[in-house]
Parts: sequence; structure tokens; C-alpha cells
Amino acid sequence: MSTDRHLPIYLDRHATTPVDPRVMAAMLPYFTEHFGNPTSTTHQYGWAAEAAVTGARETIAAAIGASDSEIVFTSGATEANNLALKGIAESYIAKGQHIITLQTEHNAVLDPCEYLASLGFTVTYLPVRPDGLVDLNTLESAIRSDTILVSIMAANNEIGVLQPLAEIGKLCRENGVLFHTDAAQAIGQIPLDVNLLNVDLMSMTAHKVYGPKGIGALYVRRRDPRVKLSPQLHGGGHERGMRSGTLYPPQIVGFAKAVEIALIEMDAETARLTELRTRLWSQLSQLDGIYLNGHFTQRLPGNLNISVAGVDGNALLLGLRPIVALSSGAACSSAKIAPSHVLQALGRSDALAYAALRFGIGHNNTVEQIDRVATAAIETIQSLRKLALRS
Ligand SMILES: *Cc1c(COP(=O)(O)O)cnc(C)c1O
Repeated sequence: MSTDRHLPIYLDRHATTPVDPRVMAAMLPYFTEHFGNPTSTTHQYGWAAEAAVTGARETIAAAIGASDSEIVFTSGATEANNLALKGIAESYIAKGQHIITLQTEHNAVLDPCEYLASLGFTVTYLPVRPDGLVDLNTLESAIRSDTILVSIMAANNEIGVLQPLAEIGKLCRENGVLFHTDAAQAIGQIPLDVNLLNVDLMSMTAHKVYGPKGIGALYVRRRDPRVKLSPQLHGGGHERGMRSGTLYPPQIVGFAKAVEIALIEMDAETARLTELRTRLWSQLSQLDGIYLNGHFTQRLPGNLNISVAGVDGNALLLGLRPIVALSSGAACSSAKIAPSHVLQALGRSDALAYAALRFGIGHNNTVEQIDRVATAAIETIQSLRKLALRS
């Protein structure tokens, strides 16, 4: 991994993270030794798996101030977002058909919204301020009598900005509108309490906090108010009927272990990552024509996103490829040749939106690595600019 000198330095934690060896160790017994189906109630194999799932559910619930019966396990945040948006739309259609979200949401929120719009729902895609944060007055004036749901992410996957969840939650509660947040990038990285924040539904995933891929959860509030959610996967009635399908104990145990470790290490890791991020920015920002994307401080500690004037974005990524593994934006859309919708929403020109670098600093990164990346980035930018001048 990072010890292999031939592999580029990994700075793409917003796309995914490696599984922490402690997480892996916790998962292993549930593949072979305790392989039972947690819903087999007639024998010990089932009981052992059930006990593991119950413990994991308690850990994840406690991490966000919820109770264990409010956690619905899913295959990840994409499924959790789909379940939240479509499940609410279906359940509350008699109350109204208006949904509010942000232009800068992940596609796992935007695409279900588009789908709902094709069914006749009305979706308002709120703009953001130039720093990437939602304007609360804009949000308040967008709420209508037929609004059933506000879906605003906790932390952005490209620019790392942290939306003001407490203020949004308060506004939603005062207006009797449900509040869903996609916390895929936030869980384990910033403190989250669903009651302090007035969050009614929260999407989570394990693989952005050193847990396994293919597991996540949706928090669904049961009291004040009790959220009604139509299932999107019908079958055996698992997860209190909200998500059928045999539970996957190794992944669930790994998810909980990853969250548990992240909470214990959060303060120290936040301080360490903030220092590395500041170190990277202080070197890069010595160049002219470097623009920080997103709010300077209200962002994930390990995130730095910059636009570089006067260079071709693809050439920049290609030039850095042997040194550092990073991307210009969301992993899921970087195959498309289109500027990032997030950077466009900030008001960046197409040229600056194309020439973006998203640095995601994580567990394994060191000061020495950050300095190497900064040097390589500066050299690459300078030589590309020289080439552009000559041609
Ligand atoms: C990664 C990510 C998702 C998708 O999560 P999966 O668990 O991979 O399905 C959704 N939203 C955001 C903000 C993300 O960063």
C-alpha cells in the first residue's frame, strides 16, 4: 500500500478508503465461524450472528445519538438516499409533492430527485453561495405548504464544505418539513447528533471511514415525529419491513468497528489532518492563479479543492498521475467529460471547473508525502503554464 514506493501517494479518500486492519480483524469470524443468518431464531448459529448485528446496530445508533430501532442497514449511501427520497415521496404524497435539495448534492441524491420529478413531483434545486454553503434565507423562502422533504448533505464529496445542519434542521422542524441529510462523507469525521440537529433521516456508508464497501445505513426517526417510509425492496420483511434482504454480518460488524474507531480517534485525527491540509495549502497558494473551492474553514479536515488557472485540467491530472492518486471531482462522474456540477454551482468558469484538483488527505498520509505532493503539483503547474505560453 503506502509502503510500496512504486505506487502513487493515495490522496483520494473521498472516493474510498482502505479497510482498517482492526476492522478487518473484527469482520473475519463472521465469514466462516459465525456464519449464521441473523434471522434464524431456532439455533445457535443464528443467535451468534444476531448478537453481532445487534451490537453493531447499537454502536452505530449511539454514534449519532439515535436508538437502535432507528437504524436500517443498506448496501451503502446510494441505497440509503434512494430509500429516503423515494420512500418519503411515496409515503407523503397525499401531503404534498414538493422536495427541496441542493445543486451541489451527490448524484445519489440528484438522480433519485430527477426520477421523482419524472413521476410528477416538483423538485427545487437550491443554489449555493460562492463558498458552497446554502443560504438559510433562500432555503426558508423555498419552503411551500406542499413541501414534504428537504434533502441537504452534511459534507460535500468534492469541496468538503459542511452545511449548517443545526440551522437547517431547526428551520425544517419549525415549518413541519422532514429533513434528510446525506452524511456519507461526514460520519466518523465530524460530530453528528440527530436530535441536536433535528435530522429525521440520515444516510451513512462504511467505506469512506475505513470500513468495507457495500454496507451503509439509513437512520429513520421513530419519535417526534415518527417518519413513515415506504420500502423500496420488498421481501422477507427484514429491518422492520423497510429493507428486505438477508443481513450481512461481516459487513455490518466492520461498519460498526470502523465508526467506533473513527469516534475514538476523531479529535486527534481532525487536528492532524487540518495541519496537513494547511501545510499543503500554504505551499500551493504561493503560486499565482490558484483558487480555493469551498469555504476556507467550514469543511472536512482532510479536504482541499483548488482550481488552477492557465492549465488544462486533464494534462494536470496526467502529469501528477505517477506521484499522487487523486481526482478532479467525484469518482462516479469523473468518467464523464463534463465540468463538475459542484464547481459550476460555486460560479466557477468552465475552464476553472475543469482544472480542479481534489485532495483527500487520510489516515496513512504523512508530512513527508504532503510535501512531495505539493512540490510535484507546483512543478507540474509551472511547466504546463510555460508550455501554454510557448504555443
Ligand atoms: C460516496 C458517496 C455516496 C455513495 O455512497 P455508496 O456507499 O458508495 O453508495 C453518496 N453520497 C456522498 C456524499 C458520497 O460521498
